[in-house]
Amino acid sequence: MNEVSEYIKDVAKGVKTLLGGLSVTGYYFFHPKEIITQQYPENRGTLKMFDRFRGEVIMPHNEKNEHRCNGCSSCELACPNGSIRIVSKHLLLENGKKKKIIDQHIYNLSLCTLCNACVKACPTDALKMSQEFEHATFGRVELIKVLNKTGSVVMEGLEE
Ligand code: SF4
Ligand code: SF4
Repeated sequence: MNEVSEYIKDVAKGVKTLLGGLSVTGYYFFHPKEIITQQYPENRGTLKMFDRFRGEVIMPHNEKNEHRCNGCSSCELACPNGSIRIVSKHLLLENGKKKKIIDQHIYNLSLCTLCNACVKACPTDALKMSQEFEHATFGRVELIKVLNKTGSVVMEGLEE
């Protein structure tokens, strides 16, 4: 008798669980606007990622093609897996002194774990996380990017 009652209890439990699952399915069937599954890529034009999403490291530039990176290398040192390489060069000033400036800020997206350590380590707030998430390419080399744009300069007052 005990075995029969245990069996009935198990069946009742199974039916209860099934109905619980079906109630969720039923709810979203009648409230389609609340469905969070994205119809990607059909919604590519309107899709907006959530604010804290980390897609890739970028270096914003202003309308004068200026950025905030002075080439201090803090981000390179902070990166746990060598995704950043800073190449610097020296300018010869009129007074004969040399000034170190950034030549290339090289970022390897294929190595990056999007940990945000470089963004936090930057003393001049030169780096940001973008919300771009479509990174498919035909070659890994395309994921190695120079973040400071051609002809750009560091904003006045931020030089090292
Ligand atoms: S997000 Fe992390 S892994 Fe990516 S470059 Fe910055 S420090 Fe390196
Ligand atoms: S991005 Fe920031 S931390 Fe990295 S080299 Fe430039 S100024 Fe330094």
